[in-house]
Amino acid sequence: MNSVPRLVILLELLLVSAVLGAEPTAAQLARAVRETAADPAECYRVRDLSFAKEDIRLYLNEGYLIFSKPIDGRRVWAAFSSDVDGGDGEVILFPPTRSERQSLAGFTQSPNLDEHLRSAFMVFTDGTAERLLEQIQRDGTGRRAPEIGAATAAEWSPIAANIAAPMQMRLVEDILAPAREGSLVFLALGGKSLGTFDILMDGREGNQIVARQRTEHNGKPAYDVWTSFPARSVRNGNAVGEREFTLSDYRIDASLDALLHVQAVTKVTVRVGAKARRVFSFAIANAMQVRSAKIDGVPVEVLAGDSVRGRIAGVSEEQPLLIVAPNQIAAGSQHEFEFEHLGNVITSAGDNVYFVNARGSWYPHIGSGAATFDLRFRYPRRLTLVTAGDPVDDRLDGDWHVTERRISVPVSSAGFNLGDYEKVVASAPGIAIDVYGNRHVEDSLRPPVIYIPIPSADATMGRGRGRGRGLAAPPIDPIPIMPPPPDPLGRLKAVAADMSSSMEFYANLFGPPAIKHVTVAPIPGTFGQGFPGLVYMSTIAYLDPQDRPAALRSAREQAFYSDLIVPHEAAHQWWGAVVNIEKNNDAWLLEGLANYSALMWLEKKRSPKEMQTILDRYRGELLDDASGKGTPDSAGPIVWGDRLMASEIPDAWRAITYAKGTWILHMLRKRLGDERFLSMLAELRKRYEFKILTTEGFRALAVEFRPKGVSAEAMETFFDNWVYSSGIPSLKLKSSAKPGAASVALTGTLDQTGVDDDFSVDVPLDVQFARGVVQTIWVRSSGGETPFSATLRQLPSRVVISDDILTKK
Ligand SMILES: [Zn+2]
Repeated sequence: MNSVPRLVILLELLLVSAVLGAEPTAAQLARAVRETAADPAECYRVRDLSFAKEDIRLYLNEGYLIFSKPIDGRRVWAAFSSDVDGGDGEVILFPPTRSERQSLAGFTQSPNLDEHLRSAFMVFTDGTAERLLEQIQRDGTGRRAPEIGAATAAEWSPIAANIAAPMQMRLVEDILAPAREGSLVFLALGGKSLGTFDILMDGREGNQIVARQRTEHNGKPAYDVWTSFPARSVRNGNAVGEREFTLSDYRIDASLDALLHVQAVTKVTVRVGAKARRVFSFAIANAMQVRSAKIDGVPVEVLAGDSVRGRIAGVSEEQPLLIVAPNQIAAGSQHEFEFEHLGNVITSAGDNVYFVNARGSWYPHIGSGAATFDLRFRYPRRLTLVTAGDPVDDRLDGDWHVTERRISVPVSSAGFNLGDYEKVVASAPGIAIDVYGNRHVEDSLRPPVIYIPIPSADATMGRGRGRGRGLAAPPIDPIPIMPPPPDPLGRLKAVAADMSSSMEFYANLFGPPAIKHVTVAPIPGTFGQGFPGLVYMSTIAYLDPQDRPAALRSAREQAFYSDLIVPHEAAHQWWGAVVNIEKNNDAWLLEGLANYSALMWLEKKRSPKEMQTILDRYRGELLDDASGKGTPDSAGPIVWGDRLMASEIPDAWRAITYAKGTWILHMLRKRLGDERFLSMLAELRKRYEFKILTTEGFRALAVEFRPKGVSAEAMETFFDNWVYSSGIPSLKLKSSAKPGAASVALTGTLDQTGVDDDFSVDVPLDVQFARGVVQTIWVRSSGGETPFSATLRQLPSRVVISDDILTKK
């Protein structure tokens, strides 16, 4: 035998130690996740093995359990099969609230989940796999099964790769993150009666537990969310943990070329949280590509989102982005991160009208927090680009235009908009407002071409007069008539006037807005979006009502584009820019507050009757079961947020977030009285300036501002029924008045149906008299008939349930 040359051995030793000494790169880990395989040596016949994670309990009663091969020393998954005689697994999950039990029962016919299992594929980044292995080796709940190790591994490895690959970004992030931070438990379960479904507990989503099943809605893959709630430790008041890292002081330098491709360098200051770390998770629009990243000027690794959509989050317009430092970065230290990114986030809507499709996600960002921004754009001279903030510079440089702005208060996001614009300058006391409109009309707003038919030779001569087939005159094409396009600036001045007067109205009620220089610019489409200092306004709002597309000419649509969308987006300069939310469950607060502010503006500008007309319309939308799948309101409580988008009931998310959100604010106003309600909103703006509002924080404020005679419990109940549950009651009132010597005794019953028995609300009754103002009495409803009595000064002419409560009419 020839001996191996010494030099080669030495070199190999050096290579091995170099590999062992270095931290793995994110790309290496991602590859290991994609190629993950079962470990045939770690296959066990298990009996009575179990584990609990927060509210989830999983029992592996009889079957085989196999573990993954380690990735960077960690086993990230295990798979269980009950394919043996008497084989069984079981999962138990009890939702903690009534509405969650109702939701679960709606899908599984039971308010609690207790399902026997054929199989369980389990992904863990919290060390559960290692603990299960230890448990097996310690207490004999399993014995090694080498005889089937290879076969079991061959069976599970491809399944594992299929499930783990779309989760690679998340798995890599958790492997690189400090111990136990943002841990994930993901269970893909094969139920004996419910089929396949998932349960997951995600530490990065505030320890939120979700049970859900893959399905299809209108031919598109979707999830039915059976139930979703904060894990037990969070409900018991354990803090979810400090932010991993925070951002401040964005500096973005962006160039738009002649084709409007965006190329940008984004710098941001990153402060590391309480634990040292190497991995930093950002998100960016799918249309953007991050070329490179640096930390303090030194190039670092970038791992960008995969094309396969993650199995955890579902479809998103954003992709995850991991920035990985070669070594740990100290807790509490501050660094400059720099990203070079480019992409196509602007599309043409035709005739020099543009659509910016990544409005808040065109630069690397994280899900929470606020920062100041310095924004610099270089773009073609023919266009105007607008963005939020105070003007720093506007100049021409050859064929290019340069615009610089500074946002000096912390905001959650910064967008831009561009076009060939006409500008109107408006103002409100202490606020400068620039309103831009397009000089051109996008293709989709051009009225369709009309064809005037020309009588053909056949028709003139009449058919069948013996003309030979071959002699037919060539057909004459109908004449196309191009109706004139709508004027894209028809309402430019009206938009500017409404913007400034509604902002003045709000400033008087709530105090100053976040940013004193607000820009409004058009966006093609049927929506608006109010960013801090920058409002995207539907181009339809700029058209005169008679010029709008035929489908948008109903009374409801016209009111939306002419009267509501402008003051709604203006109100987001308070609700969203001054006061913000972080969790999707609280998003209804911003929409409800913005829309109710708009309604209050309409009430002031026009009349209370106009406000009532819109509220009645909203009531109709919430109760309209045109689809036959249930009324939008029945889809779930308003705090479900995005989860309502997955409902099979069409329009549920929109109707609940906007229509019910507005109604909740209206009912709260009536319960508190005008003065207290407005003081509460002013206090909300003051107390939560540049802070995060939650539904619970809002509830506490409402309790604080309740009037005399209304108990804290009554306010809590208001939120329990209108905010944390769904349901709109039917109410029937019977009453009679008996005149006495000095007063009138009013007695009656209030009959409540159409909601759960424990639904209970304070119902305003309007007592009308022949002369004098209407008196309101409040009666707490409950399931069935509630008797009530009151003492009146004079005989009423009529007693009715007030219009100010959301009921089935
Ligand atoms: Zn809104």
